[in-house]
Amino acid sequence: MKYLLAGAAFLFVAACGDRSSTTPDDPASDDAASGETASAEAAAGSPTDAAPATDSLDSVAEDLVKLALAAGVHDPAFVDAYHGPAEWAEEAKAEARPLDALEAEAGALLERARLASNANPGVRGAMLEKLVRAAQARIRIAGGFTFDFDEETQRLYDAVAPEYDVRDFHAALAQIDALVPGDAPLHERVDAFRNSLAIPEDKLRPVFDAAIAECRARTLARYDLPENERFELAFVTDKPWSGYNWYQGDYESLIEVNTDFPIIIDRAVDLGCHEGYPGHHTWNVILERDLLRGKGWIEYSLYPLFSPLSVTAEGSANFGIDLAFPGEEKIEFERDVLFPLAGLDPQEAETLAALNDARRKLSHARNHVARLYLDGRIDRDEAVRMLMEFGLQSRERAEQGVSFIETYRGYVINYNLGRDLVEQYIAAAERDGADRWDAFETLLTTPLAASDLAKSK
Ligand SMILES: [Zn+2]
Repeated sequence: MKYLLAGAAFLFVAACGDRSSTTPDDPASDDAASGETASAEAAAGSPTDAAPATDSLDSVAEDLVKLALAAGVHDPAFVDAYHGPAEWAEEAKAEARPLDALEAEAGALLERARLASNANPGVRGAMLEKLVRAAQARIRIAGGFTFDFDEETQRLYDAVAPEYDVRDFHAALAQIDALVPGDAPLHERVDAFRNSLAIPEDKLRPVFDAAIAECRARTLARYDLPENERFELAFVTDKPWSGYNWYQGDYESLIEVNTDFPIIIDRAVDLGCHEGYPGHHTWNVILERDLLRGKGWIEYSLYPLFSPLSVTAEGSANFGIDLAFPGEEKIEFERDVLFPLAGLDPQEAETLAALNDARRKLSHARNHVARLYLDGRIDRDEAVRMLMEFGLQSRERAEQGVSFIETYRGYVINYNLGRDLVEQYIAAAERDGADRWDAFETLLTTPLAASDLAKSK
């Protein structure tokens, strides 16, 4: 995962690169051999009957991890993080199997996943099947195949972004126009106002330390995390994303913040929650502890970036900001603690909050632009222009936003659509009497895809 805040104007943008841990249980080594047999037979034309009757979810999971490692040799973004047996990664690298062979393997593994899932009903098998389907699609993409935008997101993320009416975006822009009056184009006014609230470079470390500490304290007040969970914070440059959480395994994360552009004060809490607590770092810690070590589900030793897991990953990380700082609490903390720490005028905090509320209504605009651009319905210049207009960004940030779209493609929907789905899930749980932090933890420990979350109305 990554906190791909590729443009400061998009509140939802977030990309993180992280993932789980060291292997807990060593799955039976015989499974790999039987998996290869099934793959070969299925590829030869007898997919259903080829799967061994004794195929287990563990066996499918192990072969999925190995398939992902093999695909990662060709497509570095395929595997966001891996903490399983080192020899599996070494084997994948040494063998360097070609993509067309991997595509055939994926097809055979999908059939095995279906059978195993049917024989073992439950969330694990259902998610395994979706993970294999996504791997198959991403392998095809890595080989040069192009799906249209909606089909790609359906195959990879089990989700399709809604159709948008551009008039809704214009209505939100009109609200923002009133907040930052002036004669210059709106995106320039917004950009200038936000840049006036940039954290001075020599204050970045203390401001981020304070923000993350607060996010962590609020999360630890509700969750018992392992005593040795920890993170390292680093400032980096020349990246296509604005922040990234690299999960190291053994309950440790490396959180990187990109300083190519000025870091606006509201980003500190956003990134602290999204990348850290109760966002990606927290989720990875819980996945490692409960699913990988606790249940021995080896598939959670690897994070496939282009997969249904990313809907929950980005959605929960973005919703986690509101979970940790409900109502006015974020603006109050920023105004009373972070603004003074950064040497900024706390009186500007209210305007920034109002502006951000209005900008939230534009959060889906990037899906709209990405769909038009990747489907070839607008060219790059128009994509940049639309991101400037609807994302209220400078040309430089919009250029970075288009680069992000080119690199990560349909992944953009995970930030906003994912957040909407997580919010819907939590709201439904609350209506049933659940506490929202408890419901959030249930979400983090239950492999649910977008289509599952959509049912929670
Ligand atoms: Zn993220």
